[in-house]
Amino acid sequence: MKFAALSYEEKSSIENIHFLSAIPTKKGASGMSLFPKIVEDFKRLKNRLVMFSAKDNKNVLVASPLLWIEADTSCHSELCGLRAPTSMYPCCKCYVRLQRSMPNLKSSSYYTGRHTARTKAHYLTAASTSGRGSTIPDVSSTGNALTASDLCFAIRATDALLELQSFDPSIDTPVEALHNILLGVAKYLVNDLVKVVLKKNPNQMARLSKALKDYENSQGMSRKFTRELRHYGSFLGRYYKVLLQILPAILVTEFANDSILSLITPSFVRLGCLCSLVFVRAVRFGTALHYETKKDEQFNKHIREHLMHINRLNTSRDICLKFAKQSAMKHIIDGGSWVSKDKMREKYGNSTAEFLKENFNDNVKNILFGRSRDFADNNDTDDIIAKALCDNTFAVFMLKESRDQHVRSFIGKVSSLRVEYYRVESSPHAQVNNYLLAQRVSNDASTPLNQLKIVCKLDMHTEFNHKLVMNLSKFGSYWFFVSLFSNRQY
Ligand SMILES: [Zn+2]
Repeated sequence: MKFAALSYEEKSSIENIHFLSAIPTKKGASGMSLFPKIVEDFKRLKNRLVMFSAKDNKNVLVASPLLWIEADTSCHSELCGLRAPTSMYPCCKCYVRLQRSMPNLKSSSYYTGRHTARTKAHYLTAASTSGRGSTIPDVSSTGNALTASDLCFAIRATDALLELQSFDPSIDTPVEALHNILLGVAKYLVNDLVKVVLKKNPNQMARLSKALKDYENSQGMSRKFTRELRHYGSFLGRYYKVLLQILPAILVTEFANDSILSLITPSFVRLGCLCSLVFVRAVRFGTALHYETKKDEQFNKHIREHLMHINRLNTSRDICLKFAKQSAMKHIIDGGSWVSKDKMREKYGNSTAEFLKENFNDNVKNILFGRSRDFADNNDTDDIIAKALCDNTFAVFMLKESRDQHVRSFIGKVSSLRVEYYRVESSPHAQVNNYLLAQRVSNDASTPLNQLKIVCKLDMHTEFNHKLVMNLSKFGSYWFFVSLFSNRQY
């Protein structure tokens, strides 16, 4: 649980993320079993409750105007009481009908077009009978009446949420970037590339593997792709994140005239462009899209790290115990009280401080406080100003002190603490394939690095027709250059 009203950074710090429970999915229980109770509490909170505030040492009025549940795509389905995202009617918002087999696929316009909306009224109708047997009106295109069950309304555990006036499953479940893009379409395309397209073409596979290996030398990407492509089955979201940025650049240059890859390459180019826009720098655009792949993923890591140190016989209990200990410590350090063995109310004092002082090692820090994590950027659009730039790094630079507000930025390469100038151009092939070309300006002019500030770090690792390729699939790059495209500066 997090506090929605805090700033993004505060909200994301481990100290402000509270662990409520882990429920083993047996004996008919699941995380969803908590909902009736949560909804009950929430209804009371909506009408304001008097609570004691230790900080203010008096009673205060607490109201909770916002409930925000974060969930991945399959969990969205559960929250809406729908069957899994692989079912025939998987969408929380409409009744698009999918099918399991390839023959007789409908035209592509069917899958991208609009469909009859799944409304809150439908969710309420579906919840009105215990067996999901009620008919949902005006949905069937064939005239046959369809029941809620036919339309993949399933489990009932989350029906309690519908009691909240403001909750509407059809509009409160936005598209979630990590699972829909990285673990959705990206995973599908990478699997198809390796399993279908390259399977019978070991020559191409070897060339692509070599190009990926070579890309580890790029100064433009702070995270490297160090996995073997053929191990695609065990890739995590963060591997796709790197792959999607570098694959398009490799495919359109190394394999520019390759007939075997010519069908799949445009898909990677489009996806690279989309991702470059979706995963833009969080500091500028701290949107919900970032949430899942940034801090939450890191919080999952926090749980996973703990799992490494236990025997995994009862993971739910072990995680619960660890977080319970941490919550108890937070409570004590925040000045909370507790009841001692002889029924006396106690608070922290000098002896607590002394005990901690004597025993404060890494182990205690980890177990009782849950080490605080840095607010790290894992989207590869990191704050480059703070980092020393090594040789062969390309970036968009500006003069640090310039009286002219409209002075144009330029593209340069770092070399021995100076920056060399590069000229940008385009070509019909580049326009279609989401990159720009760059060539060194013929004179030897350069500017000392310390007189410049960096506007945007670039990835220019590949070459095409003896010119450097500026990879616009790198997260943030397309966004940066799109305004220049629209001004027709390139
Ligand atoms: Zn839909």
